[in-house]
Amino acid sequence: MDIVKKIQAQAQALQPQLVAWRRDFHAHPEVGFSEMRTAGVVADHLLHLGLEVTTGIGKTGVVAIVEGDEIAADAPTVMLRFDMDALPITEETGLPFASQAPGMMHACGHDGHTAIGLGTATLLANLRNQLPGRVKLVFQPAEEGLGGALAMLADGVLDAPRPSAAFGLHLWSRLPLNQIIVQAGPLMAGADKVDLTVTGRGGHGAMPHETVDAIVVASEIVMAWQTIVSRNVDPTEPAVITVGSFHAGSAANVIAERAELRCSIRSLSIQTRDFLVERMRAVADGICAAHGACADLRFTAGVPPTINSIAGADLMREVAHELVGASQVGEITPMMVGEDMSEFLNRAPGCYAIVGAWDTEKPLSSPHHSPTFDWDERMLATGAALLTSVAIEYLNRVHN
Ligand SMILES: [Zn+2]
Ligand SMILES: [Zn+2]
Repeated sequence: MDIVKKIQAQAQALQPQLVAWRRDFHAHPEVGFSEMRTAGVVADHLLHLGLEVTTGIGKTGVVAIVEGDEIAADAPTVMLRFDMDALPITEETGLPFASQAPGMMHACGHDGHTAIGLGTATLLANLRNQLPGRVKLVFQPAEEGLGGALAMLADGVLDAPRPSAAFGLHLWSRLPLNQIIVQAGPLMAGADKVDLTVTGRGGHGAMPHETVDAIVVASEIVMAWQTIVSRNVDPTEPAVITVGSFHAGSAANVIAERAELRCSIRSLSIQTRDFLVERMRAVADGICAAHGACADLRFTAGVPPTINSIAGADLMREVAHELVGASQVGEITPMMVGEDMSEFLNRAPGCYAIVGAWDTEKPLSSPHHSPTFDWDERMLATGAALLTSVAIEYLNRVHN
C-alpha cells in the first residue's frame, strides 16, 4: 500500500489549511439543522474542486461525488461521512479562535471533522486518476441527538449512486494523539428514550389514606429499575438505565396525582434494548398494580448501536497500521454514548474509527461536551489521510 504513504505526505502538506478551516468553523459554530454558514463554506470549496455538489440534503447537509477518471457506469461507490454541528454550550476556553456565537460551541470536535472532510475532498480530487469508482462525501448536520442522519436518509442521501460501504471517524480528546481505535462489532451504544407517567389519586397532604401517592409509587419504580441492570441483564452485556428527569407535585400539602419520568437507556444490541424496555414495563406495571396506580410507558427509538463490519474494520485497521504503525492501533471497550453514524453503517456496512487528539505532554483535557473542551490539531492530517486511503483501498479491492 505505497499509496497510503503518498497520501499521508500530501495530507501533511495540507495541515496548515486543515488548521485554518478548523479554526474558522470553530469561531463560527452552528447547532443542529442551522449549519447554513458551515454548509456554505463546505459547498464553496467542493465546487472549487470541480466536484458535483448537492446542498439541502437533510435541511443543511451537503453531498459531493468524487468520480474517478474513465470509470464504468457500474463502478463501486464508497461513502465517507463528516458531521458539522456544534452544541448549545457557552465556550470558556479563551482560545484566540473561540466561538463568536453566544451560547454555541464546537465542543465535540465536529469542526475538526468538517475540516477533515474538506481535506479529504481535496486529496481525493487530486487522485481522480487512481480512483476506480466514486467516493460520496456526506457532510451531515445535526448529529447531536437531533436526527441529522435520518433527515439525510429521508432525502435520499444513499440513492444513486448507492454506496456499498460507509466509513468515518470521531476525534477523541482523551485518547493519545494519533492513536487509532479500530474494531469489528460494537463501538458505541444504542441510545433510546423511555417516558413513564404514573397516575395515582391526588388529595390532601394530611389524609394519605384517601389517596394513591404518585410520588411514592414512582420512587419505588425508580429504585426497582436499578435492579434490572444489576439482576436481570447478563453481567457481560453492557446496559444503562438513567432516570434523568422526575417531575411531580405542586405543593407541600398536596399529594401528587401524577408523576412524569424521562429516561435514557443504552445498550449494544437491539435484543438487550428490547429486554430493558420489557423489564421496565413489567416492573412499572407490577408496582403500580400493587398500589392501585396506573402506569403508561412510552418507548421512543433513538440511535441504534454503532457496529462495524468485520471486513470494514479489517480494511481500516490495515490502513491505520500503514499510517501510524501497528503499536498505535488498538481496540477499546465500547463507549455507551450514541452516534448516528450507526444509521449509515446499518445500511452500508463499514467502519467508524476513533482518532486520538490528546497531546500527552499536557494534562488530560476537559471532556467532550464541556465548555473548556479542546484538542490537538495535529490529528487533522492523520484523519484526512486515514479516510482518503480507506476510500481508495476500498474501491481498489471491490473493483479487483
Ligand atoms: Zn458529541
Ligand atoms: Zn461528536
